[in-house]
Amino acid sequence: MKVALFPGSFDPFTNGHADIVHRGLQLFDKIIISIGHNSRKQRYFPVEKIIGHVKEAFAENSQVEVITYDELTAELARKYQANYLLRGLRNTTDFEYENSIAQINRHLNNYLETVFLITSPQYAHINSSIIREVHRYGGDVNEFLPYQI
Ligand code: ADP
Repeated sequence: MKVALFPGSFDPFTNGHADIVHRGLQLFDKIIISIGHNSRKQRYFPVEKIIGHVKEAFAENSQVEVITYDELTAELARKYQANYLLRGLRNTTDFEYENSIAQINRHLNNYLETVFLITSPQYAHINSSIIREVHRYGGDVNEFLPYQI
């Protein structure tokens, strides 16, 4: 069984992330959306709120699991017997960052392969940090999310 983790901060989880999961389901038998939550790091949207929304958004899909974690992604993958990390790429900035993370994860867990999906053009502009800024100043961000916040 091909199991992939989809790790990220997901602060918040957006339509861009949902698109990566839906497309990833063509490649993997199971995808575990893994919401990184470091208790020492402040999030903008409470993790309990996001996990609830994401679980609801994928409630119909038994191949998708949603968890939170606070440990090395490479260790988490071992625990869930996941041999793949799923990540999305929007631009060269993402590439620079993702390249380093993929190398280090492979170093930490030799069985771990990172699979990148290029963003769908209609979601390429969606960025969690910009959504946080818009929301902070009272803007409506629901059109960027697969749920209502
Ligand atoms: P992190 O904090 O680990 O960078 P994010 O929650 O920002 O995690 O994103 C998780 C993954 O989803 C990353 O691989 C990121 O590049 C990708 N991603 C974020 N937004 C989009 C989008 N609009 N389209 C495709 N992939 C995206």
